[in-house]
Amino acid sequence: MRVKGAKTARQAAHWLRSRWGQQVMLLGYHRVANVDHDPYSVVVRPSRFAEQMAVLRREAHPISLAKAYEGLQTGNLPQRAVVVTFDDGYTDVLSQARPLLAQYEIPATTFVVAGCLGQELWWDELARIILSPVALPDRLQLNINGRLHTWSIFDPQRERDLLRKQAPTPRYRLLLMLYQALLAQPEARLSVMAELHTWSLVGPINYDLSETGNVMSPSQLADLIGDGLVEVGAHTVTHAALASLATEVQAEEIRQSKSMLEEITRRPVTSFSYPHGSMTTVTQKLVQEAGYTLACASYNGLARRGSNPFYLPRFWPTDWDGETFARWLRRWLHG
Ligand SMILES: [Zn+2]
Repeated sequence: MRVKGAKTARQAAHWLRSRWGQQVMLLGYHRVANVDHDPYSVVVRPSRFAEQMAVLRREAHPISLAKAYEGLQTGNLPQRAVVVTFDDGYTDVLSQARPLLAQYEIPATTFVVAGCLGQELWWDELARIILSPVALPDRLQLNINGRLHTWSIFDPQRERDLLRKQAPTPRYRLLLMLYQALLAQPEARLSVMAELHTWSLVGPINYDLSETGNVMSPSQLADLIGDGLVEVGAHTVTHAALASLATEVQAEEIRQSKSMLEEITRRPVTSFSYPHGSMTTVTQKLVQEAGYTLACASYNGLARRGSNPFYLPRFWPTDWDGETFARWLRRWLHG
């Protein structure tokens, strides 16, 4: 008996299967932690991350980035192939994410800012000062690259009222404004940070490396990669927005981060991720010339056979619960 449309359905199913054997979904995370503030929207709570990894194990086929690269070259990828990556190399990848990756047998790659090992990244330091629970002076004056800026905003009662209404407080707005200003003007960062420390009286971080959001130290990196489940990739030396730099400075950031991390891990570092997703075609070429085999970018999409290996897309799951994550994943996995 011939059922009308059955052939079309079979063809469609075959097309979907073959399509899935040719593509892979790369996921990008930053932090897995319980925190009071997440001003940059980069934190997934450990309980939520656990739910997301359980969904991946159940509904997808988690593979390593190296396997994904190989599969993209040969066209031989498992159906519903997914790769987990982390940017920046925060300590909570070791303390929070890694045990869950091990529990669900999910390989991952962590892209590490090689020049900041064991240190706090500048935007986290900025957030820690501006969102500090201590009372801040009610007036802030900053010299940013020769221009004087003044804010008079720290009315504690007003802050409390806004927080109650869950409205963005002046501190939050100031934080995001300073973040954008210092992102665009990296040469002003050191002096502005020094001014902010003096102004706020918020001191350097109390280093408890297992609990804070620092970049991993060399010994923590060694712990992370011990059994081979998690690999290390490079993410420049200083977390530079590469597209804005001179070619030779870009080349140095790209080459040096590779050699620094290879020295620490004693393993080849063959993958790279562009900080802030910032790159040009020249940057991609420099990454290739430095000896990497692939590089992850920040735009959304699926990597397919024939995709440029130095411009691989990624998706960025947020603090979704397992059900929300599963619904989102299925839309991509099943078309
Ligand atoms: Zn980054």
